[in-house]
Amino acid sequence: MLGRDPLDAAVSAARRHLAALPEVPVRPGKAGHEVAALLPTQLPDGPSDPATTIDVLEAAVEAGLLATASPRFFGWVVGGTLPVALAADWLVSTWDSVGGVSAAGPALARIEEQAGMWLLDLLGLPPGASFGFTTGCQAAHVTALAVARHELLRRHGVDVERVGLAGSPRLRVLAAGDRHITVDLALRYLGIGTDALTVLPSDEQGRVHPEVFHEALATDDSAPTIVLAQAGNIHTGAFEDFVRISSIAHQADAWVHVDGAFGLWVSASESLRHLATGVDGADSWATDAHKVLNTPYDCGFVACASPEAHRAAMSGTGSYVAFDDSERDPNAWVLEYSRRARAIPVWAALRTLGRSGVADLVVGLHERARQFAALLGGRPGIDILNDVVFNQVLVRFNDSDDMTQSVIAAVQRDGVMWLGGSTWQDQLVARISVCNHATTASDVERSATALLAAFDAIAHQEFGQAKTG
Ligand SMILES: *Cc1c(COP(=O)(O)O)cnc(C)c1O
Repeated sequence: MLGRDPLDAAVSAARRHLAALPEVPVRPGKAGHEVAALLPTQLPDGPSDPATTIDVLEAAVEAGLLATASPRFFGWVVGGTLPVALAADWLVSTWDSVGGVSAAGPALARIEEQAGMWLLDLLGLPPGASFGFTTGCQAAHVTALAVARHELLRRHGVDVERVGLAGSPRLRVLAAGDRHITVDLALRYLGIGTDALTVLPSDEQGRVHPEVFHEALATDDSAPTIVLAQAGNIHTGAFEDFVRISSIAHQADAWVHVDGAFGLWVSASESLRHLATGVDGADSWATDAHKVLNTPYDCGFVACASPEAHRAAMSGTGSYVAFDDSERDPNAWVLEYSRRARAIPVWAALRTLGRSGVADLVVGLHERARQFAALLGGRPGIDILNDVVFNQVLVRFNDSDDMTQSVIAAVQRDGVMWLGGSTWQDQLVARISVCNHATTASDVERSATALLAAFDAIAHQEFGQAKTG
């Protein structure tokens, strides 16, 4: 028998997966060591049927997958995938073109350019900003902070790309304690170091007050300084006061970088845009398409107000690459050199949703988050700890770390929905992030019901133990 086509096998597997996704338990059916039993123990001695390889993959992965793309997955801040973005992503792999150089794929480079311009527009960023498509917000932070490093040291007469950091003035980074770990990692990768961080106190929503930035800037006004502002606090979803922060920072000649991994997207909605007022006054921005826009992994976006600094920090030339100066090279703005054309799924999503479709997507996430808060809040023993300004809801049970941890564990085991825990202002909290375009009001109802049932069951169990013990 002639072997099946592996592409047909993959399409069938994909269709089965997508059809089952809305109803499969969100938790993985098997742990990693159990999945190992479904995989070959040894590197095969020789070739075998490619379609069977796809079958083996399907069986193993379906058995041991945490369904983060499920409409009832609310852990971390992830997102699902729009069907059109998935389809476009398949084509990107199919074309297998060097997405980094316009000479290798003029059409891909042009489509990336259009996607980038559309994103600047939707995210409310300056139309003249430069941009790049990265693997995620992590790489966007590394890129943006490399540009900041370049520009701040250039102003001190140091050509950091040539001479390195030795002998240059020490950079300083002002940031809230409650920030994403990827910012710290970026500082590590760039040789700035986490000791450069001055951690500033924040308010009950995790925001740093502009005056706090102001005072910190005044304590050593000669140090080249990066101010980190957050559009969408990782816990509360809160937004900082960008207008005042940028104005204060720029008076001190500091660089303002915005972590807007998911929050920057509020600018696409007329009703939520006010949260990010003034965000366009910053110097650099990092965000993700694989979160709110619901494209597949891996797709982040970096933008810089100064194309000159951006280019100087990130690009170089080689005689073996055919450069065409009249065209924009995607790899001139990011870390990745040979790379997939990861802007294509973004373009496909934007082309399909249009301006109002993206706005509806963003508003939908906010409405679902508010629905969670309404269903859970105000019940005995349940506290909602944050103002639900966008898509984040922090929940605490019986004002107790143990109880909150137990409810999280129980609901994860149950599998109807999934959320994670975190520490917020020294307390354990259950963190709900609504980020999937496919999450419906009824998904939220079912999820809230599962959460309440888990809480009830544990509360009764503890009550029973207290009586008998
Ligand atoms: C997810 C997230 C990041 C990191 O993004 P990756 O795409 O995982 O690299 C950074 N900041 C915030 C606020 C996030 O939510």
